[in-house]
Amino acid sequence: MSSTTPSTADDAAVPERSDFIRDTIRADVADGLEEVVTRFPPEPNGYLHIGHAKSIGLNFGVADDFGGRCNLRFDDTNPEAEEQEFAQAITEDLAWLGFSPDRVLYASDYFEQLYAWAEDLIEAGLAYVDDQDAETISEQRGGYGRPGVDSPYRDRSVEENLTLFRGMRAGQFPDGEKVLRAKIDMQHDVMQLRDPVLYRIRRVPHDRTGTDWIIYPTYDWAHGQSDAIEGITHSLCTLEFADHRPLYDWCLNHLELPHGKPEQTEFARLNLTHTVMSKRVLARLVADGVVDGWDDPRMPTLRGMRRRGYPPAAIRAFIDHIGVAKTNSMHDIELLESFIRTHHNAHALRRMGVMDPLKVVITNWPEGQEDALEAVNNPEDEAAGTRQVPFSGELWIERDDFMVDPPKKFYRLSPGTEVRLRGGYLITATDAELDESGEVVQVNCTYDPETRGGQAPDGRKVKSTMHWVSAGHAADVTVHEYDRLFSEPNPGALDDPMDGLNPDSKRTFTAKVEPAAVETPPGEVIQFERVGYFVADAQEPRTFHKVVGLRDEWARIQKRRQNN
Ligand code: ATP
Ligand code: MG
Repeated sequence: MSSTTPSTADDAAVPERSDFIRDTIRADVADGLEEVVTRFPPEPNGYLHIGHAKSIGLNFGVADDFGGRCNLRFDDTNPEAEEQEFAQAITEDLAWLGFSPDRVLYASDYFEQLYAWAEDLIEAGLAYVDDQDAETISEQRGGYGRPGVDSPYRDRSVEENLTLFRGMRAGQFPDGEKVLRAKIDMQHDVMQLRDPVLYRIRRVPHDRTGTDWIIYPTYDWAHGQSDAIEGITHSLCTLEFADHRPLYDWCLNHLELPHGKPEQTEFARLNLTHTVMSKRVLARLVADGVVDGWDDPRMPTLRGMRRRGYPPAAIRAFIDHIGVAKTNSMHDIELLESFIRTHHNAHALRRMGVMDPLKVVITNWPEGQEDALEAVNNPEDEAAGTRQVPFSGELWIERDDFMVDPPKKFYRLSPGTEVRLRGGYLITATDAELDESGEVVQVNCTYDPETRGGQAPDGRKVKSTMHWVSAGHAADVTVHEYDRLFSEPNPGALDDPMDGLNPDSKRTFTAKVEPAAVETPPGEVIQFERVGYFVADAQEPRTFHKVVGLRDEWARIQKRRQNN
């Protein structure tokens, strides 16, 4: 999506979108900034989720709006948790979402430069090797209103620091015995500036650099400098990094940079009701078997959403719609779902499928006769054409579309009422057959042969149109229907988010569907009329996942809020 054509302040596309970040960038461009360069910097320690999609949409969107570039940079400075497998998955998910990075880069490629800069800092008297353990260092940092305590090693000479730091790299000390710290100010109001740790000793092989390194830079030493190496102009990150910005600037201000100095700007994380975005909690859901993996259709991961039948275009439209803000907030998951529904309403082919089948026998249907009725594939899209749906004297209808003894406003099928079978005939129920427990097992009906296609020649009206499937032609398919993964609206706010889980977030059953539904290509979404949208599983034949229902829950929520 990011273009490679060079742009200048004059020919930069005029951005349509406006927000506090784009307004700042527009001012920078007006001040003569030649090219806007951004990056999306995931740590390859998990799969991307819808929160990452917000960051992606912003970084790539900004680059696109200003005719600039956006890199994918793996922030792989922490060897314990990171794996190439995740990097591969992130690359795939980014492409699936519809974005292509200008360059794919790894912070680990900068280890040598980061190390050289650390030596520069030592030589400038701005960093020292500390022999204290992590706990002591953390203790001495103090807190707001609590003074910091200088390390007894703070005033080592440049020569001694250089020798020790080189010794750290060369493997002369065990893990954790020494760290490199910036020498800033142990009394600073900004805690991050109280001599932060820049390097740790960790004999953990790195996925890309193997055993080349046994010292690894911290986030604070790696991130801004990686931005600087790549010529990033605007480093957009989430609000929790606001506290780190003074340190980000401090590091860059004390180094010789190859390009201009990048500028960090923070924006609010995306939070959605009834789910969590924390990788730690998502990993627990997988490990504890609450879900069937990172790509479970209930997961807020991009992989989960892909299996669930969420189209990338609808996710992008949602991300654009919510925009960026400076304060954290919670968005209703129903809003995301409304984007999914709107997309499928325009594109999904209509099919008939009965989720909870009840047998209907048409007693006056000529024995052995079959009919094929023409049905519209998508009323929203004439080009989608029509199909033939087989009809016969034995049908399946939805169990809750029939009642023996209905209340007043029940207009669907009941003894004596006439209803329309969609695209088919008008039928009238005569009686129902019950089993010993009183449950209806069969409804007997008569049909009016004059009403083929659904209209009565005498113009008489019926109040209800129902979906159906010819029993002799129906195929059995497995349907997975999902509810909220967390019944709790904001599980992240609980002491243990797992306490907010919905114990019944998945229901699996067999449905009866018309033959055309079975032909749905893997990964494609159809609408089962009157029921909802369903995606054909990418691997399992005759298996569908419910994407979303037909009712616009978001409109309902908004109305309720207006009335309050
Ligand atoms: P976690 O803390 O769960 O491990 P993370 O934020 O550290 O997640 P990264 O892989 O480091 O995950 O994130 C890559 C980028 O995506 C970062 O710039 C991060 O700020 C951004 N990001 C992560 N989660 C969200 C979110 N919910 N909303 C917006 N941006 C996000
Ligand atoms: Mg992170």
